[in-house]
Parts: sequence; structure tokens; C-alpha cells
Amino acid sequence: MTTTWKNIETWIDAHVEQMVELQRLLTAIPAIAPESGGDGEAKKCRALKKWLAKAGIKDIVHYDAPDSRVRGGVRPNLVATIPGRKKDAVWIIAHTDVVPEGERKLWTGDPWKLRRDGSKLIGRGVEDNQQAIVSGAFAALSFLKTHTVPERTIKLLFAADEEVGSAMGMHYLLEHHNLFSRDDLIVVPDSGVEDGRAIEVAEKNMFWFKFTVKGKQTHASHPDQGVNAFLAGSALALVLHGMRNVFHQRDKLFSPPWSTFEPTKKEANVPNVNTIPGEDVFYLDCRILPRYSLDQVRDQVARRAAQIEAQYGVRITAEELQANESPPTKAEAPVVRALADAVKRVYGVNTKPVGIGGGTVAAPLRAKGYDAAVWCRIKHCAHQPDEYCLVENLVGDTKVFARIMLGQENAKMD
Ligand SMILES: [Zn+2]
Repeated sequence: MTTTWKNIETWIDAHVEQMVELQRLLTAIPAIAPESGGDGEAKKCRALKKWLAKAGIKDIVHYDAPDSRVRGGVRPNLVATIPGRKKDAVWIIAHTDVVPEGERKLWTGDPWKLRRDGSKLIGRGVEDNQQAIVSGAFAALSFLKTHTVPERTIKLLFAADEEVGSAMGMHYLLEHHNLFSRDDLIVVPDSGVEDGRAIEVAEKNMFWFKFTVKGKQTHASHPDQGVNAFLAGSALALVLHGMRNVFHQRDKLFSPPWSTFEPTKKEANVPNVNTIPGEDVFYLDCRILPRYSLDQVRDQVARRAAQIEAQYGVRITAEELQANESPPTKAEAPVVRALADAVKRVYGVNTKPVGIGGGTVAAPLRAKGYDAAVWCRIKHCAHQPDEYCLVENLVGDTKVFARIMLGQENAKMD
């Protein structure tokens, strides 16, 4: 073990309580999207910025997306930089927003007040995605505080709006700013497995549809005088689900290894039993293996809708709510190799590349040609009541990111 790494590791091990305190600070400020009834990330972001500045990080830049729905009118994206020997960067990307608490009575305490139970930290947001905020921040600080110059420039991105699609976060940044370079190592600690063995390199293409089926409302005793939109909608849901027989190929990289086409949300139609509904609205969530293009799916959806229109005498409109297509990051990409090496050194486990059903901010990055890898060690309790993160994962992940930041050359120099 080199002395440089030893210094960094010792500093990290000595600052566990400070990590817990940063978790406490962040948990106390709900950052919820306006779509979910919240006021955005501004307040939480201000507190985080103040904390980072006080800890000694000088270079912090705002890339705010305008949004008139929230107080202050912006959704903040923050980039903190610590210069390295090279201009090429290593990015740790975390999102500052959280989902609402959900049903309060399922929590055993206040979701917005951090509780510690042994090595568990409990509170909304502690895992998704504050574990990444905190481990990224402390990995960066371990260099500042030990006066170690990292090989690559360290970039911490704290992004907004991940939970409802990243329009004000990653999509905004990719469209309006030129932050990334093809030679950067981009790590997104927003999905993973308990033992840290999985490095996510691919996400299924994601397609969300809203279908509105229009028929003719009438009395239920005379279906012949109307057109039952619910019946036609049900038939449509079945034929759309049947697309799995067309897009049937399998890919073992993913779990499950096939494409999925699931009718999900259903809007209420008529309030009473004895009326035939004239309108029916439902939603379809599709997760498609990257080998199939969204255009191929679009084409199938149009054909199947036309078939139901003809068969039932209804009119169908299909609205695309989300359409994300991204190529996989290669298993031998530098970011994957760097992660695999760091995880092996810190946690002592061998990693393997995997694909997931989606979706993280790695997908829009990959769609723009940047290699990104998604990794962290987590307990999979995001969005649940009594969400928690383990202190040892907080510390271990910090070391993994620090190891990547240190780089191969620095490690060799000692
Ligand atoms: Zn997340």
C-alpha cells in the first residue's frame, strides 16, 4: 500500500461522523419536484453549497435551469471542481432531489429527521441519492485535506430533477452547457447491488405512452347505441402487451433479459356502473433491449392502435411521455476498468458489467456519446418508508471514488 493512499484512507476513516452530519443536514431539507407537490432543490442546494465552501472547496459553479413553477424560479445544478494534474476529469454525479415521503404512517419516525440505528442511517433521501452526494464530497475532500493532487481533475455534479425525468437536470445540462469530454471518467452512483459486484453499463430503452381512446358514451342497457371506449382500451392494452412476441430477443446482460411492455396507470372513467364510458385513458411503460430502436416500437404501436380503431370503431391518440434511447458503455471502457479496479481494492470483490431496466442520468449521457458507468453499494430501499443507508457503504464508496480520483500514475509514484 502506498503512503499517498494510506493518508487518504486514514483521513476518510477519521471523518465518518462528519459524513453522518452531512446526511443529517441534507435529510432535513426536502427537495421535491413541483410535479410531486414540492418546491424544487434550491434550499437544499444552498445548504450543500455553503457546506462545501466551508469545507474548503473554492470552485463551485451554478448551472441553473429556469423553472417558473418553483419559488426563486430556478432548478439548481451545481458543479464543484478540484484541479488535478490532468485536465481530463473524473465525475461523480449525484442528484439532489428526492421523492415525497409517501404514506407517513408506514415510517417509524420523522422521514425528514435523520435517525441512526446501529450502522443504519434512516431518512428520506439517505440512499437515493445522498449516499452519492456525501461519498463524492468526502472523496474529493480527502485530497484537499491531505494536500494530495489527484491525477484527474475532480468534478462533483449535484444535479436537479432526476426523479421526474431530469428535464431540469441532466437533459438541461447536456443541451445548454458543454461540461463533459469524451476522455472523462463519468461515474453515476445511483444504482447498484448489495455487495458492489455489479457495474451497470447499459439501460434498456425507455418508452412511456399515454393512450386516449374515444368512443361514444351511452346507457349500459343499450351498448348498441354507443361505442365502449373501456372495452376497446382493454383490447388495446392486450395487443400492446403482445408486442413482446415481436420484440422477443433475449440478452443475458439485462435482468430480466427480455423487453417489457406493461400497461400501468389507468385513469378513472365514468363514476357509475350503468354508463358505457365514451373515453378511456391508460398508460404503457416499455423497457426495450437496446438492439431494438424506438422507431420500430413506434411503428408497432401505430399498427396495433389502427387495428383496434378499425375493429371497435374508436379513435385512439398515443402521446409519448418519455422516449429514451441509449447505447451501452463498453465493458472495457476506461471508466468501467477504473471502477472494477477500485471496487476490487476497497471491497475485495470482482465486478461484472450488467444492464438494468432503467433509468439513470447515465442514459442521456450515453446517448450523447459519453461513456458512463453506474455503480454504488446499496440496500435497495430507495423510495420506501424507513429508507436507510449503511454507514459502512458510505465510507466504502467514498474510498472507491477516492481510489479512482487518485489514478494509476499517482498510486505508482510512491
Ligand atoms: Zn436516484
